[in-house]
Amino acid sequence: MSRAVFFDRDGTLIKDVHYLKDPADIKIIDGVSEALIKIKKAGYHMFMHTNQSGISRGYYEWDDVHACNSRMLELYGLSANFWDGICIAPESPGNSKIGYRKPSPKYELEMAVKFNLDPSLCWMVGDKWIDIETGLKSNMNAALVRTGKKINSETEKIASIQKVPICEDIPSFCNSCITKI
Ligand SMILES: [Mg+2]
Repeated sequence: MSRAVFFDRDGTLIKDVHYLKDPADIKIIDGVSEALIKIKKAGYHMFMHTNQSGISRGYYEWDDVHACNSRMLELYGLSANFWDGICIAPESPGNSKIGYRKPSPKYELEMAVKFNLDPSLCWMVGDKWIDIETGLKSNMNAALVRTGKKINSETEKIASIQKVPICEDIPSFCNSCITKI
């Protein structure tokens, strides 16, 4: 069986920009590129799962999201085919017709079947508790990063109870949670 890491985008892979639409507004985070390469080399499949309700709200189009995703890889010096899969969930909260919006674990569960993943060896990484819920509902491990939305003390308490590590950023996640095969 294989293993994988699922990454949230905004606030995790790149800085959180309110309803990011223009690739020129992307702000990268130090060390992320090197950490992503290390994780991939350690034998993990690499996925990105991002909620983009701006699509259903009419703030931007699918093409804007694709353009930002491509630009992010360029800025990090990663190839266009770096990801094994990307899931963009366009729904607004409360409208789960399509069903991929986090905390729905639909995407992770589908990829687990497609890539023969052992969930106990997989991780979901994000800056919000909905990312953590997505991972835990998929029976995967989950880690919070502090590069996005501020993590309040209540969330810190729940994370501690649920044994969810809180990492400064993706490089720190890579150092403390990723093991070589
Ligand atoms: Mg986020």
